[in-house]
Amino acid sequence: MGFGWNFDNSYARLSDTFYASVGLHPVSNPEIVVFNNPLAKELGLDSNALQSEEGVQILAGNKAPEGSFPMAQAYAGHQFGYFTMLGDGRALLYGEQITPENERFDIQLKGAGRTPFSRGGDGRAALGPMLREYIISEAMHALGIPTTRSLAVVSTGEKIIRETDLPGAILTRVAASHIRVGTFQFVANWGTYEDLQSLASYTIIRHYTDIPNSDNQYLYLLQEVIRKQAELIAKWQLVGFIHGVMNTDNMAISGESIDFGPCAFMDVYHPETVFSSIDTHGRYAYGNQPKMGLWNLARFAETLVPLLDDDEEKAIEIAQGQISQYMGLYEKHWLSGMRAKLGLFDEEEQDKALADELLSIMQKHRADYTNTFRALTVGKLESLPIHGTDEFDKWLQKWEERRGRQPQSIEESYELMRNSNPAVIPRNHRVEEALEAAVNEGDFSVMERLLAALADPYDYSSGANEEYCILPKNPDRPYRTFCGT
Ligand code: AMP
Ligand code: MG
Repeated sequence: MGFGWNFDNSYARLSDTFYASVGLHPVSNPEIVVFNNPLAKELGLDSNALQSEEGVQILAGNKAPEGSFPMAQAYAGHQFGYFTMLGDGRALLYGEQITPENERFDIQLKGAGRTPFSRGGDGRAALGPMLREYIISEAMHALGIPTTRSLAVVSTGEKIIRETDLPGAILTRVAASHIRVGTFQFVANWGTYEDLQSLASYTIIRHYTDIPNSDNQYLYLLQEVIRKQAELIAKWQLVGFIHGVMNTDNMAISGESIDFGPCAFMDVYHPETVFSSIDTHGRYAYGNQPKMGLWNLARFAETLVPLLDDDEEKAIEIAQGQISQYMGLYEKHWLSGMRAKLGLFDEEEQDKALADELLSIMQKHRADYTNTFRALTVGKLESLPIHGTDEFDKWLQKWEERRGRQPQSIEESYELMRNSNPAVIPRNHRVEEALEAAVNEGDFSVMERLLAALADPYDYSSGANEEYCILPKNPDRPYRTFCGT
């Protein structure tokens, strides 16, 4: 059958230190529970063929597609600060699909069974967490945030054993690549100098082809990775996204968001918001994410030291020089995004103070982050808990004056806001509700409706998706999402 597969396996052409080729672990009764038609099309894949009985076998890891080279990638990582060897313990990379537009995307199955890197694990994934990754990654994409994507989730028909028995599932993940900070850490620790050079050169060819052909291309690699992460994490902050597990193995060198485990969007604005039940010390709290990005990038920079200069001291100095750029870049992206959220086109000195003041009013009165910007965007402020307070009235006046000082009309300013402030986000209680219906009742319609709303997050046409703006009944209860294992 013609599925449209067009694999190249460039990663397999690297030294086999970087991966282990793996066999398949068929599952008994695979069924597609969600499939991404638009993404299949972009990849040059035939949706009908992939959803046929033969296609499902491929998405379940029962039968390898033509031209694939099933492998598990090796990587290490700092998990909550502690360094350890990891690797794909439950993921299988089929290869790189070359699209009709000549783009290259990893096609990976998550939950496809044991690999040489599984340690004590079963190599499997549960349906709930795989659907969560599908929902969140597609929502992030629609929000305009660089991210890995999800082509399909297949239920396996098998139970996996956790605290209770759970239905098993496999996610087909699509990524610019799966090269992580942890991949570099693995090579820096256990590979040779040549391995490190080869990984860095491969990464440049794969993601950073614009790098000038100078004698220090690895310095540019470091610079570009820092630039992309600063931009990415600013985008997370601007929509209130909390990744939950920003370990170095969960930071992609491509600049895509990756590995959506216990992640969620913040409701009430508070920098200390934590969603993950395993993040007991708040290491990856909302307000810490920019700093944790810096921490991870410093680990990345360390791996590149041997490539930056023959003189180690000089190399460290070069690396530090690059790392010291990050916070400024992050703040620049954040502020420019914040200006857009406030309908500001030009720059004034006090803009950061204006934004910070709004955030602190929101924090004090426990205002919802997304709905506050939404209300400002549509000009309906009455429903906000900050409405009618002295501080907010004063702030509104400053904001109006500020908007009045720019040449653009108020209508243009509102248009900018509509394009910058999502009207809907995947609120955790709605995601949970969709997962519960799917996992416990076999009812996927709740998720389908949610996915449809999230596909168009900047749609402000009258009444569109207003039901998804409703806050959880008990917003004081801290949400805890659980790790996707
Ligand atoms: P994650 O939490 O998905 O980022 O995974 C962290 C590490 O644990 C990775 O090396 C995974 O491959 C591994 N891992 C997670 N769950 C399992 C599992 N059920 N079986 C084997 N390895 C796993
Ligand atoms: Mg991971």
